[in-house]
Amino acid sequence: MSSCLFCSIAAGEIPCQEIHADDEILAFADIDPQAPTHILVIPRRHIGGLNDLESSDTELLGRMLLRARAIAAERGLTGPGYRFVINSGDEGGQTVGHLHLHLLGGRQMQWPPG
Ligand code: AMP
Ligand code: ZN
Repeated sequence: MSSCLFCSIAAGEIPCQEIHADDEILAFADIDPQAPTHILVIPRRHIGGLNDLESSDTELLGRMLLRARAIAAERGLTGPGYRFVINSGDEGGQTVGHLHLHLLGGRQMQWPPG
């Protein structure tokens, strides 16, 4: 099994509540939801985080954003609103070292996020 939690999920070695899967992107429910909708969108390929992205990842990032937006739309969040979050590093609140975009929605978000 991979030492990376989200690589293990992407490989099907650890179960998840799958929302979307294709050959490069996976989306699944966050195990500790912070909002009525809390979904993680990840690349299947291991990328440690924002600091590890390269210019060749530009299209992948765009597809992650558009996939997350499509999932938000499927859940009726287009009108009410929603939030994307990508935490980076310790002070940014990143706890899993595999790039992931949080889709949060279904409640009023606060600002600043804390
Ligand atoms: P971050 O703190 O931005 O690195 O986000 C990591 C997220 O992964 C947290 O919201 C966790 O609740 C979530 N998480 C951790 N383990 C799992 C898991 N096995 N399945 C789904 N989500 C998880
Ligand atoms: Zn990984």
